[in-house]
Formats: sequence, structure tokens, C-alpha cells
Amino acid sequence: MDLAPGWLYGSVTGTMTQPLTAADRCDRCGAQAYVRVVLAVGELLFCAHHAREHAPKFAELATHVQDETDRLLAEHGAGAGAAI
Ligand SMILES: [Zn+2]
Repeated sequence: MDLAPGWLYGSVTGTMTQPLTAADRCDRCGAQAYVRVVLAVGELLFCAHHAREHAPKFAELATHVQDETDRLLAEHGAGAGAAI
């Protein structure tokens, strides 16, 4: 389990959407969200763990993916993703 910055979509920037905050929570487990997945019908928030788990599914449906997992590493250090 290695979690490199930008592992999901390295070229995607967050300029189109608001930054994720501590109030944004993973739709699956309630942990702090670091990935916002914008779909045609709405949006989903995921922690790093569940973003990775669901990436194969939402990659086909998402119109935009805001990946802030690099911020998770910056704030909590490498390996924090594995602890979630
Ligand atoms: Zn989660």
C-alpha cells in the first residue's frame, strides 16, 4: 500500500471547486474527506482510503475529481492513509 501524492489523477487541479475542509466527511466512513468526486448527478466525498477503494468505479462516471490526498500526506506524514 503506497500512497504517492497525486496517485489518483496527477493532472487534475482543484481550481474549479472549493478546497475540502475538516467539515467535509467521507460518505462511506465519516473520516475527513480528501477527495471530491463530481458526478453528473451530484458529488461524493471520500477519505483517502475509500477514494482508493472506489476509484475504479467512479473513474468512469466522474466529470471532475478533486484529489487533495497530497495534503493528507503533508499534514499527517507518509503512511497516514494506511491508518484510516
Ligand atoms: Zn472513508
